[in-house]
Amino acid sequence: MRYFSTRDKKLDFSFTEIFSRGLAPDGGLFIPSDLKKYTNNELKNLKNLSYVDLATEIISNFCSSDLKKEKLRALLSKAYGNFNTKEVVEIKKVGDIHLLELYHGPTLAFKDIAMQVIGNLYDELNIADKKKVNIVVATSGDTGSAAISALNDKKNINVFVLHPHDKISRTQRKIMTTIGSINIYNIAIRGNFDDCQKIVKEMFSDNNFREKINMSGVNSINWARIICQIVYYFYTYFRLSKKTNFAVPTGNFGDIYAGYMAKKMGLPMGKLIVATNKNDILARAINSGEYKPNEVKATLTPSMDIQISSNFERLLFDVSEQSEKRVITLMNNLNNKGSFSLETKEINVIKDIFDAEAIDDDETIRIIRDFFNNFGFILDPHTATAVGASYKVKNKLPTVVLGTAHPYKFADTVKIAINRNISAPEQIAALPEKKEKFDILDNNLQKVKNYILEKM
Ligand SMILES: *Cc1c(COP(=O)(O)O)cnc(C)c1O
Repeated sequence: MRYFSTRDKKLDFSFTEIFSRGLAPDGGLFIPSDLKKYTNNELKNLKNLSYVDLATEIISNFCSSDLKKEKLRALLSKAYGNFNTKEVVEIKKVGDIHLLELYHGPTLAFKDIAMQVIGNLYDELNIADKKKVNIVVATSGDTGSAAISALNDKKNINVFVLHPHDKISRTQRKIMTTIGSINIYNIAIRGNFDDCQKIVKEMFSDNNFREKINMSGVNSINWARIICQIVYYFYTYFRLSKKTNFAVPTGNFGDIYAGYMAKKMGLPMGKLIVATNKNDILARAINSGEYKPNEVKATLTPSMDIQISSNFERLLFDVSEQSEKRVITLMNNLNNKGSFSLETKEINVIKDIFDAEAIDDDETIRIIRDFFNNFGFILDPHTATAVGASYKVKNKLPTVVLGTAHPYKFADTVKIAINRNISAPEQIAALPEKKEKFDILDNNLQKVKNYILEKM
């Protein structure tokens, strides 16, 4: 399997190369040159596999030339051994909804499902054997903690995590800043998540700097994250044995794009439902075709406080019938004019597959409260937005809601909704006593570069 860029189909990279690079050199996103499409008979053969065996089958489609199946299986077994539930995820029926709990990993959010695998891929693909690797990652709270947990104490790897100062939850911050490993650097940027992501993207586009620090990235644009996330859509379909909608709390369009990939690979599926908060660029883009970032607003769902939704470029590539020229035009419009508009034909392709709803903070609180009063089940605020969006779907299919974080990570918000304290899950029970360590920097590319050069 080879990979090219959404902005240049002539590029030709291996899995190992795109894994360690993250972003294509032209600023585009990597896309596989072809895609396995499962027939109904082939799907039947996957139906009864364990989570790890199913993950081995799905993921090996994308990396088998660089990593043999048996090695991949061992890697996945090891990665998911760190989860506190045997089958990695849990599916629960709550009221009319099937809740897919993706937060049983070490840092209590779905990011662990890909990141624990990624940590082991650095070893298995020998990425840091010859030269020290510096991973730079922007986080709205959960990617950073998952990356740190997966990469702390790895030999020959430094991790620099940029989070928006004072804009993530206390527990999110503490999971990142109390790790105490010498290869982990936490940087609080005086800005928002989009500022952090912009700094990281600019570093990747600066070839001199990228090569100088042997830079690598694990943000949600990294293809390795997408392929790990495809697996749980298949797993859920097989366990429920029926076609469903999937409602997904969405920020960078990574998790839901994985669902879209599952559909392209032949998985029967109803609608993919994008749930956003007040930062509703995706809801607006999908419903009207205009992609126009506004100011980022702080909400009770900080992991979705994003206006530039990077993985959306991968969908644009498909809806423009894989036209790199069209993608470049749209991205130029975004950079130069601050927005772009899709054609009716393109919007219709998107609307056929996706629904989108924005859920504000008041509604989020109300949903957490109602869900608790009606079913005794505590939702995290991100998951609550997807529950809210699922109520608005018009078709008659059952809906699976992706539970993206454990409610404890957002205990202050949950307390507002149901006036209860949640006890800490065992993974992070010792957290409150640990000492935090992070540096605060201005929202300034050069200052962050200097910091990295000094510490590496
Ligand atoms: C990262 C995150 C999201 C958004 O996921 P994307 O892949 O960026 O769309 C939603 N909920 C939680 C809890 C998250 O950590």
